[in-house]
Parts: sequence; structure tokens; C-alpha cells
Amino acid sequence: MDEGDPGAWVAARHQRGREPVPPRAQDLQIAGVQPMSSVDWPGKLVASLFLQGCPWACSYCHNHAILDPRTPGEVGWEEVEGLLARRHGLLDGVVFSGGEATRQAAVVPAMARVHELGFQVGLHTAGAYPRRLEEVLGAGLVDWVGLDIKALPADYPQVVGREGSGAKAWRSLDLVLAHPEVGLEVRVTVYPGGRVDACAIAAEMRARGVVSFALQQARALGAPAGFRAEDGGWEDQGGAMVRDIGALGFPEFTFRPA
Ligand code: SF4
Repeated sequence: MDEGDPGAWVAARHQRGREPVPPRAQDLQIAGVQPMSSVDWPGKLVASLFLQGCPWACSYCHNHAILDPRTPGEVGWEEVEGLLARRHGLLDGVVFSGGEATRQAAVVPAMARVHELGFQVGLHTAGAYPRRLEEVLGAGLVDWVGLDIKALPADYPQVVGREGSGAKAWRSLDLVLAHPEVGLEVRVTVYPGGRVDACAIAAEMRARGVVSFALQQARALGAPAGFRAEDGGWEDQGGAMVRDIGALGFPEFTFRPA
């Protein structure tokens, strides 16, 4: 069972002396909903679900308030279905975001239900749970992934605060690349003083055939107290990164400033 995974916890609770009960969409801990977004999945109009909990602790996390996996959800699944019923024909899809959206086992039936209702499924993930990612990709439940690559593998612990994280994230990248039918945008977030070699990561992504790459500057909004999104010369450094990554010739390259 994944540590802190409420879906697996619910299933285990039901196992005591009984048959295991598979997770349901209704088990999903949803911290919040954005009913309509044109930026969470480039080129699509979507509703975004922010799922509670993340096992990592990035210093710049802009959803810092929803990282604790023990916090119950604020939004019921029936509210999501009601929203989708009202927005049928208007929205293209639903993006499962977070926190870390692949943390909860219930994301699997929830994605299946979204497809059943006639919407496409997008996923924002940092790749912390490659086995669950493999499960949803293998089942054809995801149409597009926005994958955060936080650092070169060896630098991950300095960025996300957890040992073993780099191998999981880069394994997740390989898993998505093994499904060319699934759209992919790789995002790299940079921040002043961070151990993120964005240009080296971008070069590696280009070599692996990634088509769509985004460079993002971390924002202070929603980040833990003490995080500084600005520093002397940061604007110039950003400009240099944009120039160097732009020269790599990605078919799609986006810069998202702070
Ligand atoms: S992986 Fe994402 S949600 Fe988790 S701490 Fe880092 S920025 Fe926040």
C-alpha cells in the first residue's frame, strides 16, 4: 500500500475478514475544483480537480495548503458529476491535478467515469507514483499528461526533499514516452537559488523526442512562507534560459514567467 494513500487505506479497511473492495470515484479526496480553465491543458477548455495530498515537499509548491494526505476532501464526487452534466458540450475535458493526482487509488475509477461521461482526461503529475501512472496509461484512461520534471535525477532530493524521488519521476517520464498516443508537455520550474539545471534537463528532453516543453518560473502565491520568487538578476537569468532552451528547437516551447 502506498504510504498516505487513502484509496488503498479504504480498500485495506474493507479487507479485514472480507473481500477487498475496489476504490470508487466517490472515495476521491478533492481539495478544490476550477470549473473552467483554458490554461491547465493548453488548447482545451477544461474543469480542473485539485486532489488532496502529495508525498513531496518542494520549497516553491504553490499548492502548499493541500499537501497533507490526512486532510479530507472538500468537494464530493457528486458535485463534479453535477458540474460536468451542466457543462456538457462546453468543456473538452477534466484535468486531474493536485497535490499529486496519482497518489489516490480512486483516481483510476474517477478517470474512467469522466471518459464514460464523454469528456477527455488530462493529468498533471510530478511522477511520484509510477505504478499508478502505468496503470492509468495502460488502461487508456489518460489523453494528455503535463509532467513536472523537477531536476536531473541526482538533484531531486534537494528540490523535493525526498530520497528516491528522482528515479520515480524519470521512470514516469519513460512510461509516458512509451505511450505516443498520449499527449505530453514536460514542465520544468525554476526558482532563485534552486538546484534545477533547466538547460541540461531540456537538452535531455529534446534528445528523448519530447515535442512540447515548458519553462516556468515559480511564483510566491500559495508557496510556503519564506519562499522568495525574486532575486537580484533573476530576470536576466530567466532570459538566458529562454534563449538557450529556445535554441534547442522544440516544436513547442512555452515560457511561463512568474
Ligand atoms: S510535487 Fe507538486 S504538489 Fe508536490 S510538493 Fe512539489 S510542487 Fe507541490
